[in-house]
Amino acid sequence: TQSLSDRDPELFGSITSELGRQRDEIELIASENIVSAAVMEAQGSVMTNKYAEGYPGRRYYGGCQFVDIAENLAIDRAKELFGCEFANVQPNSGSQANQGVFQALIQPGDTILGMSLDAGGHLTHGARPNQSGKWFHAVQYGVRKEDNMLDYDQVEALAKEHQPKLIIAGGSAIPRVIDFARMREIADMVGAYLHVDMAHFAGLVAAGEHPSPFPHAHVATTTTHKTLRGPRGGMILTNDEDIAKKVNSAIFPGIQGGPLMHVIAAKAVAFGEALQPTFKDYIKQVVVNSQALSDQLIKGGLDTVTHGTDTHVVLVDLRPKGVKGNATEKALGRAHITCNKNGVPFDPEKPTITSGIRLGSPAGTTRGFGEVEFRQIADWIIEVVDGLAANGEDGNSAAEAKVKAEVADLCAKFPLYPNM
Ligand code: PLP
Repeated sequence: TQSLSDRDPELFGSITSELGRQRDEIELIASENIVSAAVMEAQGSVMTNKYAEGYPGRRYYGGCQFVDIAENLAIDRAKELFGCEFANVQPNSGSQANQGVFQALIQPGDTILGMSLDAGGHLTHGARPNQSGKWFHAVQYGVRKEDNMLDYDQVEALAKEHQPKLIIAGGSAIPRVIDFARMREIADMVGAYLHVDMAHFAGLVAAGEHPSPFPHAHVATTTTHKTLRGPRGGMILTNDEDIAKKVNSAIFPGIQGGPLMHVIAAKAVAFGEALQPTFKDYIKQVVVNSQALSDQLIKGGLDTVTHGTDTHVVLVDLRPKGVKGNATEKALGRAHITCNKNGVPFDPEKPTITSGIRLGSPAGTTRGFGEVEFRQIADWIIEVVDGLAANGEDGNSAAEAKVKAEVADLCAKFPLYPNM
């Protein structure tokens, strides 16, 4: 009955500090968002106490009648959102959703074809240190040198050469839409499954602002916490009953035990929110804002990979200003603008340094920022980067302090979780 603040002040302090950080800083990490109080309420609920191995109506534990309601709501809403026949909402993360697909459809030693990390793919698409790169023969495709667009001809050539069992489309730093029909055509040529990992752009698909993986994908995976604006977690979708059965067995008992029912309840809440018309307005604004951000950065003398964006992602190429990704991430952090360093395609720098930063509009847009605010944010980024260009890694401390004060004013105008 004691409050957390009384019972564990040390831990409570870390949470209040994190709330303060989120309130006072501009969040530009492309994979993050800000969930509603309702999502948090569900995630912080008594459903965390419940074991529910199995699936609704076929559990290995008693007392599951109410968590079944929550999981069925999540499944039904997911199917409605993405217009598909089957949904498994139990993966604990995007990585585990992908592992579930692999376990369902391929064997260790089989060949997979995914986008390389350097070009914008994800670790779980066959990168060497990841299980996907260790347990499978992973072949990687990239982007074209001339325009940094996905190289479909290379995908086709590699598919024909290596005969993969599974081809993965999607990634973590891809600013442009992917031609799923072309990817399916290639998959069909070699008899491979097409797996679309829409972790980043699932919210855009749900809102009809991005082409859907269906009907082209045999199976699609996503995280639920990025543009979908739900709790941290994953999900697997398909229209194929046989694949759905295999996926269900792969997630449980294949790679997971008891599902996180409190998180599944929060997924149901988030999917319900995403079905509302206001979510479409939100996602439209996400795209308008990232395009404004990209445009204003280019006007300020930076470049963005593919010179613009169709999505929530802006991959900034810092080379026109001669600064590095690691130094820029730190300098922007000092000015209370949060982002991550990120390699650009064919980056001459190591992954710990990089020539780029990855930015995104989902969190700022949830906060209420519009195009005006995102253009202002771009101007602040240019100011900070110009300080680095002139002074080296220490930057221009006066400019950074000025930006930090202006960031504080903007954040105060768009209060975050005012009732907490
Ligand atoms: N797939 C893609 C394309 C991602 O961007 C991510 C997250 O960064 C993942 C999978 C993995 O998700 P998680 O971090 O929840 O394991």
